[in-house]
Amino acid sequence: MKKQYYRKKFNNYNDDWETAVGLFILWIIYSIVVFVQKNYKMIIIIGLILFLVTLIVLLVVYRKKIKNYLVSKHIKKVKNKLKKKSKLYFNIIELNNKYSFEEFKPFYDNYNVYFKSNLETCNFDDYLLMTIDKKYDLLKQYKLKYDELNNSYNKYNDEYNELKKYISVDEAIELKINNDEYIKCQNEIFEQLKNKNIPEFKVVIYINYSSKKGRVKKKKYKIYNKEQFYNKMQEYLKLKKDNELYKISSRVERARMSESMRYDVLKRDNFRCQICGASSKDGANLQVDHIIPVSKGGKTEMSNLQTLCSRCNIGKSNKM
Ligand SMILES: [Zn+2]
Repeated sequence: MKKQYYRKKFNNYNDDWETAVGLFILWIIYSIVVFVQKNYKMIIIIGLILFLVTLIVLLVVYRKKIKNYLVSKHIKKVKNKLKKKSKLYFNIIELNNKYSFEEFKPFYDNYNVYFKSNLETCNFDDYLLMTIDKKYDLLKQYKLKYDELNNSYNKYNDEYNELKKYISVDEAIELKINNDEYIKCQNEIFEQLKNKNIPEFKVVIYINYSSKKGRVKKKKYKIYNKEQFYNKMQEYLKLKKDNELYKISSRVERARMSESMRYDVLKRDNFRCQICGASSKDGANLQVDHIIPVSKGGKTEMSNLQTLCSRCNIGKSNKM
């Protein structure tokens, strides 16, 4: 359907061009005739005929456009009359003045990661849970404001629809406007004036990566709608109730470790366990350990990482 419409439109443009070029060539030929011919009567007669032909061709080609123009001018006139005399028009203006809806903006939160691989593997849900934990009160306010706006928008919508029911021929007769034109114009005015600022609940989590020298910058984001957010909120409240909030930051901190960081720690520690000194040559299975565990708020940073063999690592966790 749409393709056909565009083709039709395109063909119309072609018609216009062909007409314009055709007429232009005719007038050029005529100009040449004027230069060559000495018979003035002839020149005037041909000129008049050409003028008439041009006029008829233009009328035929542009008749639709001319008609459309006249119709739209008429519709404009009808609308202006409605804006001066229609009670329904004044009612919708009044309704719009009664409610004012500011734009409802999304709730944003940002995180930075320091490795490109972290950006690729990041788990947005965990970051959202951290945001809920950090900005609980702000999010609560956001939700309240949304509910408020949403309620008042629904009220507005009901009143708007109620008002629209009165668009009928009664007023058309009263204002001496053609019924169909009245209904068409009034509906268009109503549609135009309708407040379309529907509040949309959106929590957006941004994760930014910027290379050490700041040359490479990338970001990813995820948008949570109302339902998705409420689900995560339930999950958050359950974790909080069970005293398991640390699980979120642990997961995030663990995910922050990259292969290259693991290698850097092993290299710094000369590929030896920092407790017993065993290396993989001795058959030890070397692991990178958080000195302060992530569950206790330890960060994934070089200064908080050390090389341990698996045996010492198990021994350490048993003690903690
Ligand atoms: Zn060891």
